[in-house]
Amino acid sequence: MEKRWLAHYPPEIPHTLDYPMKTLPDYLRETAEQFGDRIAIDFLGKTVTFRELYEQAMTFAHYLRGLGVKEGDRVAVMLPNCPQAVISYYGTLLAGGIVVQTNPLYTEYELEYQLNDSGASVLVTMDLLYPKAIAMKGKTAVKHWIVTRMQDYLPTIKKWLYPLVRWKQKMPSVRVDEGESVHLFRSIVSRLETAPLQVAIDPMEDVALLQYTGGTTGHPKAAMLTHHNLIANTLMCAHWVYKCEKGKETVLGILPFFHVYGMTTVMNLAIMQASKMVLLPRFDVKQTLKTIERTRPTMFPGAPTMYIALLNDPDLSKYDLSSINVCISGSAPLPVEVQEQFERVTGGKLIEGYGLTEASPVTHSNFLWDGERVKGSIGVPWPDTEAKIVSLETGEEVKPGEIGELVVRGPQVMKGYWNRPEETEQVLRDGWLYTGDIGYMDERGYFYIVDRKKDVIIAGGYNIYPREVEEVLYEHPKVQEAAVIGVPDPYRGETVKAFIVLKPGEECSEQELDAFMRERLAAYKVPRLYEFRSELPKTAVGKILRRVLVEEEKKSLTNR
Ligand code: AMP
Repeated sequence: MEKRWLAHYPPEIPHTLDYPMKTLPDYLRETAEQFGDRIAIDFLGKTVTFRELYEQAMTFAHYLRGLGVKEGDRVAVMLPNCPQAVISYYGTLLAGGIVVQTNPLYTEYELEYQLNDSGASVLVTMDLLYPKAIAMKGKTAVKHWIVTRMQDYLPTIKKWLYPLVRWKQKMPSVRVDEGESVHLFRSIVSRLETAPLQVAIDPMEDVALLQYTGGTTGHPKAAMLTHHNLIANTLMCAHWVYKCEKGKETVLGILPFFHVYGMTTVMNLAIMQASKMVLLPRFDVKQTLKTIERTRPTMFPGAPTMYIALLNDPDLSKYDLSSINVCISGSAPLPVEVQEQFERVTGGKLIEGYGLTEASPVTHSNFLWDGERVKGSIGVPWPDTEAKIVSLETGEEVKPGEIGELVVRGPQVMKGYWNRPEETEQVLRDGWLYTGDIGYMDERGYFYIVDRKKDVIIAGGYNIYPREVEEVLYEHPKVQEAAVIGVPDPYRGETVKAFIVLKPGEECSEQELDAFMRERLAAYKVPRLYEFRSELPKTAVGKILRRVLVEEEKKSLTNR
C-alpha cells in the first residue's frame, strides 16, 4: 500500500506523531495547570473554568472510589451536553473506571440491554431521566445512581425559567436495598477533594470507553476504545487544525458528547487545546443561531443535517455568523451545495471528514487551509493512518478508481468489541478495520465513499448506491432533505424509493422531481416511488436513519 496522500500534506502537518504514555485525564490536569482561569464551559451563560472542571472531576473520582469503583469498572453516563456530563466522564476516568456512554433518548428496553451488556455498576443521570434510570433497579448490575439537576449549572435567571421540575415530585419514592444508594451530584462535587488519586492504568491496553454502535451488522455492541486510541485521535485532530491556537478558540458543542464524534472533536479536543466549549443540550435552530451570535465560536463541528437546517432558517440573514472559521462535517455525506452555501454565509471553512465509532472516530478528512480540498471526497487519511480499498470478492487491494470496501489501520482503531470475539474477528484482521463502507481512492490518494455495504440497492441486477441518488435530489432547489432506500419489487427484486422533506413554504409534485431526476441519472437509478414527509428519522448526531425507513416500509407492506 502506497501512501499517495502524504504528498499533498502541507508542511505544517507531520506524517507521524509522538504519542505520550498518558491517560486522557492527564490532559485535563495539564490544561487546568496552564490555563486554570480560562473558561472551559459556557452553558447557557453560566461558566466553569478549567481549574473548576478539573477539581470537580477529581472530587467526583474520589467519590466513585468511595462507592467501590476500581480500575476497569464500568460507569454509565446518561446525560445531554452539560457541565455535569464532562465532569462525570473525566471523573470516571480519573477513578480508573470505564465510561459507558448512554444516549438519554434510549427507551427502558435499550437502556436495560446496554447496562446488562456493559455490566455497569453506577449510573449517572439527571432528574428528568431519573424514573427511567431507577427502573433499572433489580434488572441490571447498577447499584448506585448519581442524579443531577439541570439547574445546578444554570445561570440564576435561567434557573427560574427552567421548566421547574420539582425534584421531589419527579423522584418516585424508591426503597433502596442493602448495598444500593442514590446520590445527588451537587452534594458530591461541592465537597472538593482534589488530591491526586493513584490509579494503575496502562494507556496502551486499558479501555477508557465503551462506545455502543450498530457497527456493520446493526446489532448493538460496544467498541472498546483505550486511552491511547482516544488520545491518538484527539492529537491527530489538534495537528489537523494547526492554525487553531491553544487557549484561544471557542468551540460550539452541539454534537452530543455521548456520541464518539462530539466526544473527540469537541470535548476531548477542547480540553487538550484549552478551548472554551459552548454547550447546548440539544440542537434547536433558533437557539443555535442566537448562541453563535452571543458567544462568537470559532469552531463548529457538526453533521450535514445541522448545517442544512441552519441554512434553511428564514431569519438566517439576521444573525452574524462571521466568527466561525473552522467546521468539520462528519457522520454522513456532505452535499456539495450545502458546503458552498455555508462557507458563503460564514466566511469560514467547512470541510468533510469521515470516521466511525470503531476508529475513535476520525480516519480521513479534507485539508482546512493549505492542502487541496476536493469536494465530494472525504479527503485523505490522517497522520499515522493507513487506508486502502479492497475487493469485495477477493479481499485484495484494488487499483485507484476501482470500487471496494474501505479498510483502515492506525493508533485510533479500537481494541475490539466488548465481550464479542467473533464479531471482533469479522471486522479486525491484522490490525485492519473493515469499515463496511464502499468507496474508492483516486490516483492522487483522495478517498470517496459511495455508500454503506448494506445499503446498496440491487434493482434488476444493477447496483444502485442511494447516496448518488440523494446527491442529485439535494441539487433540486425545493428539496431540504432526502433519503433513498430499496423497497421490494416483484420484477426487479428491489426498486428505488425516495423520501423527501421540502424546504419551508415550497410545493413540488412527484412529476416535477421525476423529470428533474431523469435528466440527470440513468433510468434504472431514478426513484420509482416518492414520499413527502415533514421530517426524516435521525440519530442523535443528525444522521438520517435509512434503516428506520426500511423498517417502516417493511411494516407497511405486511399490514397491507
Ligand atoms: P458511527 O459509528 O455512528 O459514527 O457511524 C459511522 C458511519 O457513518 C460510517 O461507517 C459511514 O457509513 C458513515 N459516515 C461517516 N462519515 C461519513 C461521510 N463523510 N460520508 C459518508 N458516510 C459517512
